[in-house]
Amino acid sequence: MHIHEYQAKSLFRQFNIQTPEAVLIDHVSQASDACTSLAGELWVVKAQVHAGGRGKGGGVILCHSIEEVENACNQLFGSNLITPQTDTKGLPVHQLLIEGGQNIERELYLGLLVDRQTQKITILASTEGGMDIEKVAAETPDKIIKFGVDPLGSLNAKDCDTIASQLKLKGELVNQFTKTLLGLYEIFTSKDVSLIEINPLITTTENNLLALDGKIDFDDNALYRHEDIVELRDTSQEDEKENKASEHQLNYISLNGTIGCMVNGAGLAMATMDLIEHHGGSPANFLDVGGGTTAERVAKAFELIQTEDNVKGVLVNIFGGIVRCDLIAEGILQAIDKVGLTLPIVVRLEGTNAKQGLALLDESEFDIATEADLTQAAIRIVALSEGASA
Ligand code: GDP
Ligand code: MN
Repeated sequence: MHIHEYQAKSLFRQFNIQTPEAVLIDHVSQASDACTSLAGELWVVKAQVHAGGRGKGGGVILCHSIEEVENACNQLFGSNLITPQTDTKGLPVHQLLIEGGQNIERELYLGLLVDRQTQKITILASTEGGMDIEKVAAETPDKIIKFGVDPLGSLNAKDCDTIASQLKLKGELVNQFTKTLLGLYEIFTSKDVSLIEINPLITTTENNLLALDGKIDFDDNALYRHEDIVELRDTSQEDEKENKASEHQLNYISLNGTIGCMVNGAGLAMATMDLIEHHGGSPANFLDVGGGTTAERVAKAFELIQTEDNVKGVLVNIFGGIVRCDLIAEGILQAIDKVGLTLPIVVRLEGTNAKQGLALLDESEFDIATEADLTQAAIRIVALSEGASA
């Protein structure tokens, strides 16, 4: 689960990490009061969306007067912000963070994640923070400092000192850095975080260290034990289809292709997508209907796939291990009965009672193409879906 920058910064403050003074607004009429409550004559208007790259997409606007702030608010409120990290539709802007502008001296990067290779919580840091950190990591990886935390111990002040000196921080800034990093580590471990990031972590001309941005991703599997975090969820920033799918225990991810896929098991779903690509098609989605599939779930999955605009054909690929293929076939027929069949469909069944299942589909009143072999099924749906789009 993702959260907004303003929510991340509020957590930061609870864990002794310094952030600039800021006011969250949801209407332009609140802009002027927000500005006067913040000291200084420079303000930054920041669109609150669940994506990075806002600076590059015009979602971070520096303003030198209240009038400029109001203009920026009018421009951003109600718009969809498109950044290098969103799709072409962008994300809706409902809230803006008005922040007191800072006199930036240096922009650093600081983040924590779990490194699967070393199986350790790993600190990433760089002197080259800011909007081009991805480029720094890709082109000059030696400028990214990596530090694995001992899984049997904890992060201590000495580790923080080591990293601070690699970031060329001196004097009072080292103390502030230690507080910041210990705070991040505490949030990471106590809230079951999978990624936490401050980019940029700035030093100011007044010799302060501040988190100018904040990004936190939480481990969905651990959310059941963090009610306070679940409350921060903003579904307006999430994919409607994916949310609907998860309500029915379906793992669904929208993609850009034309062939809708309904598969049981994540590994089989990936292999199916690869085969479609291999035979010249492109999948419209990833969908794992799970092991103990029911007719109701199959129907829901069908509904989801068929309402995706770009879908030109559907490939169903079920391996009957625990479930029986004849029951799946009945489920498919019930689903078609309920939601209709507007697209070419190929069904491949394998495993327990596969023959009976395929026979049920062949004998049905609907025009369902059946295959026992996955490669044949992939070739067939690619051909049928091309016919449908012609
Ligand atoms: P992101 O593009 O979504 O990562 O948004 P950020 O919050 O990181 O802001 C992007 C960039 O805007 C930062 O890297 C800064 O260079 C700049 N920026 C943000 N706040 C301020 C500020 O208070 N003063 C100045 N001078 N620049 C700022
Ligand atoms: Mn940033």
